[in-house]
Amino acid sequence: MIASVLPTYNRAPLNFVKGEGAWLVEKDGRRFLDLGSGIAVNALGHAHPALVEALTNQAQNLWHVSNLYEIPQQQALADKLVEHTFADTVFFTNSGTEACELAVKMARKYFFEKDQPERIEIITFDGSFHGRSSAGIAAAGSEKMTKGFGPVLPGFVHLTFGDLDGVTNAISDSTAAIMIEPVQGEGGIRPVPDADMKALRAICDEHGLLLILDEVQCGVGRTGKLFAHEWAGITPDIMMVAKGIGGGFPLGAVLATEKAALGMTAGTHGSTYGGNPLGCAVGNAVIDHVADPDFLADVNRKAGLLRQKLEGLVSGHPDVFEEVRGAGLMLGLKCRAVNIDVVNAGYANEVITVPAADNVIRLLPPLTLTDEDVAEAVIRLEKAAIQVENA
Ligand SMILES: *Cc1c(COP(=O)(O)O)cnc(C)c1O
Repeated sequence: MIASVLPTYNRAPLNFVKGEGAWLVEKDGRRFLDLGSGIAVNALGHAHPALVEALTNQAQNLWHVSNLYEIPQQQALADKLVEHTFADTVFFTNSGTEACELAVKMARKYFFEKDQPERIEIITFDGSFHGRSSAGIAAAGSEKMTKGFGPVLPGFVHLTFGDLDGVTNAISDSTAAIMIEPVQGEGGIRPVPDADMKALRAICDEHGLLLILDEVQCGVGRTGKLFAHEWAGITPDIMMVAKGIGGGFPLGAVLATEKAALGMTAGTHGSTYGGNPLGCAVGNAVIDHVADPDFLADVNRKAGLLRQKLEGLVSGHPDVFEEVRGAGLMLGLKCRAVNIDVVNAGYANEVITVPAADNVIRLLPPLTLTDEDVAEAVIRLEKAAIQVENA
């Protein structure tokens, strides 16, 4: 008999009942150090007082009105994002995959408005992840996600990750945009080198294409900048955001330049819940914290500390780990042992990590983790490594 919850997930037998900072409490009382943050979502950790206050204050006043009316919390969050980024305009969604939907629609509509309706193709890369909607799975293009689900949304060209020559060769009269994660998350914490980010920007400029960055996982302070592309000194035309921006409340956004948003006039797109008062009240509190230069400086400091300790862990356990990679607090440990075994050994030692492709375990801790948490993380990961070695 089918489970009452549609059985699309492989769940670990863990049942968390409370969260505090970087810690999760299991119902049996064990305390787990959370280096997963619900997949890069709990950017400010669990039960951050400012987020609890923002959410409960809003909950006592007004939950939902729809986008038929003014939503001041949404306006304030859009203004903040415009102030802190390349963007001139913002659309709010409830998830990353909805942000992907709009990014794709916006890029195609742009060329439609420019009297080039044949330009519908978007270049993407293997190992990417853009969500589970029909556009999201078509964009990533892996058979694992698309097989069996009927016709795949056309208009995506999939290239090998890192193949810049391939990009130039793939551009035709039907190309509209290049879509890429500055640091691949699900693909195994694979950063795009700054030089490649610059090259992609230059290619887009040369051919009149739009650059769409998927910062759903790597954005909102995760890499030590508010958005990851800032490291490369470039800006996109369109950017997808979600995960961290809601700090645990479902919230996403598409940020765009005025130019890229050319075709998105009244009635061309919408969402019932997107940008609702609850989500935006929390989003404002998240951005107020994360966009603070002192906060980001501290993320970078802790990231350096963690990375240094992880390098030691890797060299001490070469049968388990191969290398550390990533940026800021978006780190991957490429494994020699089977990554799932390492994740499970982590559970046994009360530390949470997240598996990814390419035999990697991801470390995506709350950006608020303390120096003691960093030290404890590496102690627990080392216990897990020893357990894997002795298995
Ligand atoms: C998680 C993720 C998505 C999809 O976000 P959902 O909120 O799960 O729909 C899209 N792109 C990237 C890079 C992601 O990590």
